[in-house]
Amino acid sequence: MSSLFYLNKYLVRYKWRLILGTIFIICSNVFFVQQPGLIRDAINEIEDFIANVDPQATSNILKQGLWLSGLYTLLSILKGIFLFFTRQTIIIMSRFIEYDLKNEIYDQYQRLTFNFYKKNATGDLMNRISEDVTKVRMYLGPGIMYTINLFVLFSLVLYKMLSRNAELTLYVLTPLPIMSLLIYFVSRVINKKSEKVQAQQSLLSTIVQETFSGIRVVKSHVKEESVSAKFEKEADLYKKNSMNLALTNAFFMPTIILLIGISTILTIYMGGLQANNGTIDPGEIAEFVVYVNMLTWPFASVGWVTSIVQRAAASQKRINEFLEVDPDINPNHNAEQEIHFDQDIRLNQVSLTYENSGVTALKNIDFNIKKGETIGIIGKTGSGKSTLAYLIMRLLDPSNGNITVDNKRLDELNLDAWRAYMGYVPQEHFLFSDSILNNILFGTKEEVSFERVQEVAKNAGIHDSIMNFPEQYETRLGERGINLSGGQKQRLSIARALIKTPDILVLDDCLSAVDNETEELILQSIKSELRSKTTLIISHRISSLKYADRIIVMDDGRLVEHGNHEELMSLKGIYFDTYKRQELQTDQNKQ
Ligand code: ADP
Ligand code: MG
Repeated sequence: MSSLFYLNKYLVRYKWRLILGTIFIICSNVFFVQQPGLIRDAINEIEDFIANVDPQATSNILKQGLWLSGLYTLLSILKGIFLFFTRQTIIIMSRFIEYDLKNEIYDQYQRLTFNFYKKNATGDLMNRISEDVTKVRMYLGPGIMYTINLFVLFSLVLYKMLSRNAELTLYVLTPLPIMSLLIYFVSRVINKKSEKVQAQQSLLSTIVQETFSGIRVVKSHVKEESVSAKFEKEADLYKKNSMNLALTNAFFMPTIILLIGISTILTIYMGGLQANNGTIDPGEIAEFVVYVNMLTWPFASVGWVTSIVQRAAASQKRINEFLEVDPDINPNHNAEQEIHFDQDIRLNQVSLTYENSGVTALKNIDFNIKKGETIGIIGKTGSGKSTLAYLIMRLLDPSNGNITVDNKRLDELNLDAWRAYMGYVPQEHFLFSDSILNNILFGTKEEVSFERVQEVAKNAGIHDSIMNFPEQYETRLGERGINLSGGQKQRLSIARALIKTPDILVLDDCLSAVDNETEELILQSIKSELRSKTTLIISHRISSLKYADRIIVMDDGRLVEHGNHEELMSLKGIYFDTYKRQELQTDQNKQ
């Protein structure tokens, strides 16, 4: 339960709403508990009326009745008004806290690094910010509100009953402890069962989600029937669990009503005996019956509130664990904003081992990139090319060795400034469900003219395709928009990197889905666009590297060959073999 203490800082932030809400709850209940007294008066009046047959009495009782029912209505209205205010303060407070908490979690998501995202599944991360926060809000809103209400109402009713008739109060309240216990146990059973139902429900949605996103694979393998059968089996289990829960639920309310019934009968019986002795009026019995019923709902909700609190505590525990995760890359926000890069970037005996898989993707890489150079990196899939790009972007820090920029360690530079200094086109490009224009402008900080956007798009070889779309640069991409081909996506990602006019450009295998002619066009315009800029072109195709001043060849995490095209050819090693093989393929394609 202590995990919920984390939320106290928010409760303090919104203390006035909470205090005001409590005051409103008290006001609302003060009016509420006056009502049974009116019922008593009304019954007593009627009784008097029946007892003495006074000709004046008829008009009196009518007046009296009107007055009492008017008062009753007024009390109901006042109670309702304050109930409205209560919700307006406490439920709104919970919404405010939900908003703050979501922002806090989202900020932490943005702070956390690449490594964290490699380790955690997206589905889990989504849950944390949606489901967990919702559960916490249920505690902050209804949870707190009903608890305060229960205490206030119970105290007021108890006070009212005791001040009227202490003995009868005792009888009335005897079934309550039994009821609380019973409610507690039954709610535990209900909670367990409903958790099972929920787990099964998320399993179902996972199956559905996977089937939809993989629908092409499902259909091409003619797996529709087996997928349906699997879904049906899990859906059946879901149905069984839900029916089981419904059964328990079905017992719950009748049991409570039974206990309340017992309490009511006890009140009437004991009250009846006392009335016979003349110690109380019949009106008082009715008053007590109403009190008993007033307590029903608050008590019946104890179990529900407990379960809300328990779930919120579990969710908040997960949230706290997550908020405590330290990003493993120090952003050096206080370091100098300006990047000084006039000489070279040096990799000194750099190694990298991925923690999650234990794979050593880079082994003792020693290498330098001079300002203004175009470096080509080639190697088979899995040879560590992308990992090298991550290190240079500082999405990861090396496990061993270090990287320096003009002899200053990269991990001491201002991270934001470094990343802003660079343009990076990742191998796994990502486009947002937004207009093409906004997708290109994504990484920019300053205003960029539309002419500049078009120029960049031309350089990335995508302008003509864009002009052919119905709404051109305003065309929406993604779920509700159009779908681009792999090559078009790559070119759009390149435009996004170029618009920043980066001082260093890193292209990670981003020309794999375009044909040779387009590739040539893009490479040439990048060359003219970034004439004096430093460029790193990663590729598994030798044709992409023709403008490289120097090329390094990676194999199984090691730098195995290094030089310009002619030097590498004369080595007659991996580069030479790759060249021959790819030349052969190109020739075959041409025939
Ligand atoms: P390339 O870009 O040359 O295809 P990568 O740098 O992507 O190579 O991968 C190099 C090696 O590191 C591979 O063996 C790959 O399995 C491993 N690897 C890459 N990314 C991760 C990761 N996030 N977690 C664990 N291992 C990884
Ligand atoms: Mg790669």
